[in-house]
Formats: sequence, C-alpha cells, structure tokens
Amino acid sequence: MARPFQLSDPKRARQLADAIAILAPPTPIKIVHVCGTHEMAITQHGLRRFLPEKVQVLEGPGCPVCVTPTADIDAAVRIAEAGAIVCTFGDMTRVPGTRLTLEQARSKGGDVRVVLSATDAVKIAQETDREVVFFAVGFETTTPMTAAVLLDDPPANFSVLTSHKKIPEAMGVLLDLPGTNIGGYLAPGHVSTILGLAPYEAHLAKFNIPVVIGGFEPLDILYAVALILRQVRDQVGFVENAFPRAVADEGNPAAQALIETVFESAGVHWRGIGSIPDSGYRLRDDFAELDARRRFDVQGERGDEVIPGCRCADVLTARATPADCPLFGTRCTPLSPIGPCMVGTEGACSIWFRYGGRELP
Ligand code: SF4
Repeated sequence: MARPFQLSDPKRARQLADAIAILAPPTPIKIVHVCGTHEMAITQHGLRRFLPEKVQVLEGPGCPVCVTPTADIDAAVRIAEAGAIVCTFGDMTRVPGTRLTLEQARSKGGDVRVVLSATDAVKIAQETDREVVFFAVGFETTTPMTAAVLLDDPPANFSVLTSHKKIPEAMGVLLDLPGTNIGGYLAPGHVSTILGLAPYEAHLAKFNIPVVIGGFEPLDILYAVALILRQVRDQVGFVENAFPRAVADEGNPAAQALIETVFESAGVHWRGIGSIPDSGYRLRDDFAELDARRRFDVQGERGDEVIPGCRCADVLTARATPADCPLFGTRCTPLSPIGPCMVGTEGACSIWFRYGGRELP
C-alpha cells in the first residue's frame, strides 16, 4: 500500500535536500521569496541547513507592514490627530512615521485601535457617531476582504485609508534594481490562491527567470527550491505551480472580481524600493466617499524614509540579510525596534531575531 502523503516527513525532506544538492548550479545563486510566512517557515524549521552554501534564500519585500511608506503612516497619524478612531493591524501601530508612530499618536491622545479585520472596524463604526477609519494594508490576500466590506454598505462614519499593494509588480521591479542579482523567485502560495499564475507571467516572463509558487510546509518549500534549481539547470524561466493543492492556475475569480469592482491600479510608494507604477490599489470613483484620504484631506503626504543606521531598504530588496545590519540584535530588537523590518512580525529582522536566523551575540 502506498504511504499516505505527509507534510512532515524527514525521509522526504532528506530526499529533497539530496535533489537540491544535485541540482545546485556550480556558481552561487540567490533565490528570493516575498512572504513573511515563507521566511518564518524557513527560519523556524532551519531549512537553510538543508541547502548547499551556494544556494541562498532571502526574503524580499514580503512583509506588508515593512513596505508601508512613512507617507501612509503620517496620513494615519494626521487622521488620528484630527479626532477620528483609526483602526489597523497590531504591527502597524509601531512602524515609524516621520514624526510619530500610531502608538505614539495614541499616547498623545489619539484613538488608535488594533483590529483583526476590516469587519471589526465596521463594528466599531456601528457603535459610535465618531468617524472610524480602517488603515488597510496588505497584499492580494487582504485586499478582497477590504473590498467586500466596502461593498456591504458600511455606515456613513466609516472610511478606508488604503495602502494595499500588488506583489508581482514589485517582483518585476526588484529584478531591475542594481545589486539584487536574483536567480529565481519562490512565489507566495497564499497570494497566488487569489491571483493564479497570470499576473506573474505578465510581469516576470520577459526576465526569463524561474518563478515557482510554493506552499508553507517545510517540504513545500524544499520542493519549490528544487523546481527553481531544475529550471536554472535547464536554462529556462517560467511560472510553475508547486502548490496545486491550494492554488488553481486561474486563481480565485470571485476574489479577483471583488478587487476589480472596488479598486483600480495606482502607482504607489514602497518603503525601501521607491515608487512602482501600478503596484497598488486606490478606490474607484464610485467609492470616493469612503476614501479617508479625501475625507480628511491627507492626500499627497510624503515622509522621510531614511532611518540612520537601519539597513531595511537593503533587507527589503534582498541585498542584505538582517545579520548584515550592525544594529541587529544589539540596538535593534523586537522590544526596541529601530526599523520596520524589526517591527512587523513578518519582517525578516524580527523573524531572524525570534527564530535564530544566525547565532545571536
Ligand atoms: S536590524 Fe533593525 S536597524 Fe537593522 S535593518 Fe533590521 S530593522 Fe533596520
């Protein structure tokens, strides 16, 4: 009888590690993923120990909290200072803006609340006459949920400050940045359940680079790395789905329709990368009255992103590891973060600190 499929199977992990060792190219290769959940699995399970030294796997701009620009934090702070209730995810309250974090705005009297979803923010709005703003961040996994709330006739005192972003566009831009030297992409399984394969093909095909969609179990990740290296060996580059138990090639059309109904593409700023055309979402004109930027006149904010000594920009573009930053684990820790990559639970610095991406001093 065939052995049942198991997600935790040391024997299969060893077989995949052996395959990776055989497939590894003679020269060093950098594989980049764009997902905090991937980084957490890789670091927590010590998967880098399974890889040959010349196969490096790094997190790029995969933490939505980390890539949210100071301009958007500043806008949320100004809205809180104007007297509205600002609701957002927990990590967002600690990310530095130009003047203040949202946590600091709260300590100065602002009403900033942590919620788990846009739906929670709507419930708060239903129970008050005050203005309630949901500060919406995240990639294509969370964008449909924001869209669904806006389509469900929210109360008049509710609006959204959107900072949603698109991953495939950023993956394409990263390949053009000097010094990134990316040899292959491990694409995020959860974003891909929404998008399917087409957006990766649209933005990455011209680079002729391996792009393999991977799940989040250790075996999923090792399998995806092996497929990337197989493409490299065969000198091909295409989008391959190594997570078919969750990702349909066409994605989730219902979720795509929600996004399409409520949002349109917009050029947005990514912390550490800069402005990327069509890499974010803004509300369509039909939803203008639910747009907190218009309601509170906080459009066009531009904040200072440079934090002295912090190498987040290099970490977010996979040009450095957290351990390359001299502040890592010394002056910068999750309890006392200096940059956003140590704030966001999906940030590489935070994950390496918590799960030991390197030996700590
Ligand atoms: S360790 Fe801290 S200071 Fe260094 S790059 Fe990461 S977040 Fe920035």
